[in-house]
Amino acid sequence: MRAWEANIRKVVPYVPGEQPKGQNLIKLNTNENPYPPAPGVAKALQEMDVDALRKYPDPAATALVDALAEFHGLKSNQVFVGVGSDDVLGMAFLTFFNSGKPVLFPDITYSFYPVWAELFGIPYETPALDGEFRIRKEDYYRENGGVIFPNPNAPTGILMSLADVEDIVAHNQDVVVIVDEAYIDFGGETALPLIETYENLLVVRTFSKSRNMAGVRIGYAMGNSALIKAINDVKYSYNSYTMNLPSILMGAAAVKDTAYFESTLAKIKKTREEAVGRLEALGFTCLPSGANFLFATHRQAGAKELFEALKENRIFVRYFNLPRIDNYLRITIGTDEEMEALYGFLDRYLNR
Ligand code: PMP
Repeated sequence: MRAWEANIRKVVPYVPGEQPKGQNLIKLNTNENPYPPAPGVAKALQEMDVDALRKYPDPAATALVDALAEFHGLKSNQVFVGVGSDDVLGMAFLTFFNSGKPVLFPDITYSFYPVWAELFGIPYETPALDGEFRIRKEDYYRENGGVIFPNPNAPTGILMSLADVEDIVAHNQDVVVIVDEAYIDFGGETALPLIETYENLLVVRTFSKSRNMAGVRIGYAMGNSALIKAINDVKYSYNSYTMNLPSILMGAAAVKDTAYFESTLAKIKKTREEAVGRLEALGFTCLPSGANFLFATHRQAGAKELFEALKENRIFVRYFNLPRIDNYLRITIGTDEEMEALYGFLDRYLNR
């Protein structure tokens, strides 16, 4: 080994879901929204003053922060924006989990959490889900350096009630509790109203799922103004200009189009309910989902085999080669046509 190689930081990176290239494929593997962004998004881009790209963007992304604050009935100093919720969550780990005590998150959850903890040298413990894949709130009552969990959880899709979320926040008022609400718009009860009561609560959202804009990369956090100031201080110490001008404009336009937002949510929820029935008729069992995906296991065929067979036919779903969930597939809710192609293929394959 050469001397300089010894000084290179070695990490095991997060592996994002596959982004297959080419036409004629059905992509149900990374929980994107199958419908286009709100019409106002294209308009904002077309009307953008291209000469403005010469200049640095507004480091505070005020237009986007203000639009989000208005949408949620908050003050602008209660909102932080970043480049996807991955960026927001990474900054939040850096900002809030500094006590040296272990941060708690579930064993079976968003697989980026342990990667950030390792990267930033934050100790962590991972309480197991119960026998029905639910988060057990009592596991989060022990002493810790912070708590983070998604609601609904990923990749299970299982929702926790607002009362249970509040119990976790209330039991942990000496540390920051982050509720990652990447999928909450698809049917859950948000913890957002609790930020007025609990100064230690940070609620994180994304534009990648319910706002149909994974390609733009926008995420945000909401909480007490002291938390938002702290995370902004870390951001400005690292990279002041995280948000580029086109994404600020497109994000603000998307938030203002509430009718489009609500109509695509309703459509996806309807398709999800239909999908449960159709998949069950094909021999699957689906965990109860509050998200834009289903976590399903087949009573005979193995998940890995199904994953490979689907992929061979240009239908991409997600398979996790992990203990307890290695016989499940995570299937994103697509358009009606995409779902019909999925059921059609599964029917031919399973009944061949
Ligand atoms: N949290 C959870 C639970 C997720 O599933 C995802 C999507 N991979 C994210 C956060 C990150 O989403 P994004 O960075 O696209 O906002």
